[in-house]
Amino acid sequence: MSSGLLSYDEAAAMVAAHAAKLRCIRPAERVLLGQAQGRVLAEPLLADTDQPPFARSTRDGYACRAAEASAHVQLALAGATRAGQPPAGPLPPGAAWEIMTGAPVPSGADAVMMLEHVETANGHVRLLPPRRLAAGENIVAQGAQGRAGDEVLAAGAVMGFAQLALAASCGYAQVDVFPRPRVAILSTGDEIVPVESVPSAGQIRNSNGPMLAALVAAAGGDPWVLPIAGDTVDALDAALVQAAEADLLLITGGVSAGKFDLVEPALLRRGARFHFTGVRMQPGKPVVFGEISRSGTELDQNQHPAQRCCLGLPGNPVSSAVTFLLFAAPVLRALSGCLDRGPRFALARLAAEVKGKAGLTRFLPALCTFVAKTGELPEVARVTWQGSGDIGAMARSNCFLVLPEEAEVLRAGEIVRILLA
Ligand code: AMP
Ligand code: MG
Repeated sequence: MSSGLLSYDEAAAMVAAHAAKLRCIRPAERVLLGQAQGRVLAEPLLADTDQPPFARSTRDGYACRAAEASAHVQLALAGATRAGQPPAGPLPPGAAWEIMTGAPVPSGADAVMMLEHVETANGHVRLLPPRRLAAGENIVAQGAQGRAGDEVLAAGAVMGFAQLALAASCGYAQVDVFPRPRVAILSTGDEIVPVESVPSAGQIRNSNGPMLAALVAAAGGDPWVLPIAGDTVDALDAALVQAAEADLLLITGGVSAGKFDLVEPALLRRGARFHFTGVRMQPGKPVVFGEISRSGTELDQNQHPAQRCCLGLPGNPVSSAVTFLLFAAPVLRALSGCLDRGPRFALARLAAEVKGKAGLTRFLPALCTFVAKTGELPEVARVTWQGSGDIGAMARSNCFLVLPEEAEVLRAGEIVRILLA
């Protein structure tokens, strides 16, 4: 294979192996539940009571004994319980008890007849034949979802809507989460100017800065966008000193083989050690992954490696985004204490033939419908693009189509992998 570079799979495995050694080393912080969205749990969540805390009716209807109701005899109405009332009962023999969804089932009852399945007259209720009822039907038993003291969510889980609901149900008004890792984002290039500037001839605006800040935030990090550094030894050295406090260092631009691609030597001057410099992939081939000490001295094996991962991402915006998703995001999620590190891939069916030259794993901006009919995969199609500088194409895409290294053509209808953003 070409040039002794790692394949994408080898590089991904190497990043995953390093990420596995990382953890969040800073003390947890306590946040209000309403502010916990997207944060990573530092402590497991425990159920404070049985879940549900009482045998709960899942229907509006009549609590009863299943065997009696299934005999289709008239059952005398002995009481009623609304949601919010304490557990009542006991249910006398040959009787039924009016009950609402979410209400505690009276003691002695073992099933709930649905309102729609009964006839009522003169204070009596009867299950309509031929319907029968099994014990436990329309009731969630106390503790069926978990017992008091059970771990309901492990440390390392990301708080999304479901996890927030679970925490609320267990009485957590606040949760302990890991601090967000601080991620330095350094854009380099003599031609790069801030978004507020009007570029002169030959200059372009820094789009990678805001893009990477968004990607970092989405992956659980705290983005720290540094001033743009020019392609000079002095500018890069100064910027790396400034970035020393970061938990993770991302540099864009200046990692190719050009005359003014000075990032690798600058990292080496700061004592960096590289795990790989280049991967057989497109876009993103020049991507660099390594470690660097905070102090700029020799790497100290006793120091936690979490603090010093660095990635040099190629400056082209699509290259930067793809290499971030594939290599930087798993490192960042590991540093944030998150158990689920990605990257995330899915399968889709290719809408139209895709051709390319074999030898590199390719990640092409693509649009996936994500509305699959029953039994069918979602459909994915390439977005036309003018190469890895085409930000517009990326903005019109919602995933990246993966063209395996050996593939020269993928035919319409084939099942393909997509990288999810
Ligand atoms: P480089 O990786 O430095 O060789 O840059 C590759 C291409 O990406 C060049 O066309 C650069 O102008 C462009 N580029 C580099 N950095 C950025 C950035 N921060 N924002 C937008 N484009 C960039
Ligand atoms: Mg450059």
